Amino acid sequence: MSEAPKRVKAGDKVGKGRYVCVDCGLEFEINDSQQDLRKCPACACEMYDCFPVTHIRDDIKTPDDVKNPPKRK
Ligand SMILES: [Zn+2]
Repeated sequence: MSEAPKRVKAGDKVGKGRYVCVDCGLEFEINDSQQDLRKCPACACEMYDCFPVTHIRDDIKTPDDVKNPPKRK
């Protein structure tokens, strides 16, 4: 079972992690400990899925991989 990403909204104070726009899939990382989340620059969507950096695996490189993680060998 993989952990469900946390849903966050533009304007929230967010921490380190990877953020994926729920609408267009735009992906970016935030490396500051506290930062205001902006609207998506591509589609102005305000909702993101948050993937904490600690959960990122070497074999997960795209948003599709996050939704369907490759099986470990
Ligand atoms: Zn977007």
